[in-house]
Amino acid sequence: MLDIIKSFKGRLVALTGAGISADSGIPTFRGKDGLWNRYRPEELATFEAFSRNPKLVWEWYSWRMEKVFTAKPNKAHIALALLEKKGLLKAVITQNVDNLHERAGSKNVIHLHGRIDEGRCLECGKVIKFEEPPKGVPKCECGGIIRPNVVWFGEMLPEKELKIAVDLCSRNNVIVIGTSAVVQPAASLPLFAKRSGYKIIEVNPNETPLSSLCDYVVRKRAAEAFEDVLEAISEEEDFQ
Ligand code: NAD
Ligand code: ZN
Repeated sequence: MLDIIKSFKGRLVALTGAGISADSGIPTFRGKDGLWNRYRPEELATFEAFSRNPKLVWEWYSWRMEKVFTAKPNKAHIALALLEKKGLLKAVITQNVDNLHERAGSKNVIHLHGRIDEGRCLECGKVIKFEEPPKGVPKCECGGIIRPNVVWFGEMLPEKELKIAVDLCSRNNVIVIGTSAVVQPAASLPLFAKRSGYKIIEVNPNETPLSSLCDYVVRKRAAEAFEDVLEAISEEEDFQ
């Protein structure tokens, strides 16, 4: 895979989904160990659900936050961070709400679906960062209720991040890692690259609706797919 990556000469962005963090022990939504098999999304990840039962929704988010805080970045996260450092990758656009890209060392990370380690006040809009999962329903200093700072079903993606992502995908090759490519509009992002004559690589152990459009397909788990890349980067001194 490293040869393909090098051939792009830095004109490359990564689009990552829950699958990249599956190898760090964070469950995906749609896999067989997916969270959605035990909980129904409409019960938990919507604004209506939060209005109805903020305590239940916060319990679920605190549980997920704990999982994220105790998980470690895997070889795929680390390889992406090193590729960025070497000038071979411009950015990571992620649908993930975890912080594993940042903790692996990636600098340019665009979060399309928000962050699980943040909350946002429903009254004053202030964003707060959690060092540990909150117990119960957290309150802002203004007295307002704080919600998880993530994008729920039926909500718009953050405008600024989406614009940056579309722009990056229109001007670069895209490596799509661990996303089922069914959640819109993030799933259409690679099509911007295709339309502008750039290539799409897919890293996913399973076929997705995007697979048939890809120029290269790597049918491996993310951490396994990046093993060689990581080894080669770490060994090559005058890499590039
Ligand atoms: P998804 O759960 O819909 O699909 C996961 C994809 O990853 C599948 O295509 C699956 O084949 C693939 N996959 C499974 N294990 C893999 C592995 N080891 N390596 C590579 N690929 C693997 O995930 P999605 O498309 O990212 O769904 C988007 C929604 O899920 C987003 O809204 C996101 O916020 C949310 N989500 C995020 C996290 C997280 O932050 N880590 C976890 C669960 C869900
Ligand atoms: Zn407030």
